[in-house]
Amino acid sequence: MTLLNQNYLKLPGSYLFSEIAKKVAAFKAAHPDKSVISLGIGDVSAPLAPAVVEALQKASLEMGSADTFRGYGPEQGYAFLREAILQNDYTARGINLSADEIFVSDGAKSDVANFQELFSPSCVVAVQNPVYPVYVDTNVMAGRTGPFANGAFAGLVYLPCTQQNAFTPDLPHTRADLVYLCSPNNPTGAALTREQLTRWVNWAKANHAVILFDSAYEAFISQPDVPHSIYEIPGAQEVAVEFRSFSKTAGFTGTRCAYTVVPKALQVQDDAGQNYSLNALWLRRQTTKFNGVPYIVQRAAEAVYSPAGKAQTRQAVQTYMQNAQVILSALQNAGLTAYGGVNAPYIWLKTPNGLDSWAFFDKLLSEACVVGTPGVGFGACGEGFFRLTAFNTPQLTQQAAGRIAALTF
Ligand SMILES: *Cc1c(COP(=O)(O)O)cnc(C)c1O
Repeated sequence: MTLLNQNYLKLPGSYLFSEIAKKVAAFKAAHPDKSVISLGIGDVSAPLAPAVVEALQKASLEMGSADTFRGYGPEQGYAFLREAILQNDYTARGINLSADEIFVSDGAKSDVANFQELFSPSCVVAVQNPVYPVYVDTNVMAGRTGPFANGAFAGLVYLPCTQQNAFTPDLPHTRADLVYLCSPNNPTGAALTREQLTRWVNWAKANHAVILFDSAYEAFISQPDVPHSIYEIPGAQEVAVEFRSFSKTAGFTGTRCAYTVVPKALQVQDDAGQNYSLNALWLRRQTTKFNGVPYIVQRAAEAVYSPAGKAQTRQAVQTYMQNAQVILSALQNAGLTAYGGVNAPYIWLKTPNGLDSWAFFDKLLSEACVVGTPGVGFGACGEGFFRLTAFNTPQLTQQAAGRIAALTF
């Protein structure tokens, strides 16, 4: 008899974004005359940069010609892209890595989801609360948790991110072997400072823990005391894996390219106390289960690092961050307290008058025709908060902001 992986049955059924879509569809059906604007999307709205499109076109033509056609590419990604990543994102910041510590992939989501395979089912996992659900759900699927009850999975260590700690997690008080840190953060928009990240790296070293560092929003950092890479912290190469993506940086959400850095200095023990390199194991895993990113897409990603590509993608990021400022001042005008929007395209607002996250969702939709995301959907500590994103167009963001500023609570 074929038995299910029953860990899948622990996952709560109703998914946050389908619940939101249902409510929005019902509202639109009841009010066909009203225009609804979404500040809930976690997807970009600006098109690919001209330098990227040019590279895609050129590479496509190469694929159609016998003398420049390419089949399967090198396992970790083409050298031209890994060298561009190394030079621009690491060497230029004084970080000493090598190209064979960089793994090109089709997404940070899949990498961050898959990386836990390298660790024992007995590892204790810690996550921020609120949290990007991928970290939690993939560990549930792998059997590292008990059942879900009262907004939490048994066996997971939740690190509360609240107003009291400025939405940056305190070090765990109990054992944790694997810690997922997302900075700048989705959903709260908070970013870890050099000092805070140094404390995490030192804690991981002292406790033989591994940090899985998701910096998908690195390009949005504006404050000088926020590191762009965890490897800016001394010793981090011995304890941390870093996940980066072209999705939000360069509008690649539909084009698909990302990369993961697994330093050779990062070693994990087996139960006999022998050390193994995670770099070698991740290569083993990827060569078995993954066949690489299309050549044309890797050329497109390379073009993000050309002088024109840098200027053009920078422009798109700046436009989103201007949207964030527009939203923040509208919230201020409405008398609301809000966080984020400085190092990330996310704004995390405190719901007023003790409204819960979903009640605020209903009020915003019915009174302003604006859609956002209830904070509680990201974890119990998100209750009483609400996420708005800066990813819509400037025009629609301005319009939504005008409606929000006119609200009374
Ligand atoms: C958008 C996002 C990513 C990027 O995922 P891709 O698969 O590269 O598109 C990774 N982590 C977080 C927290 C994100 O919000």
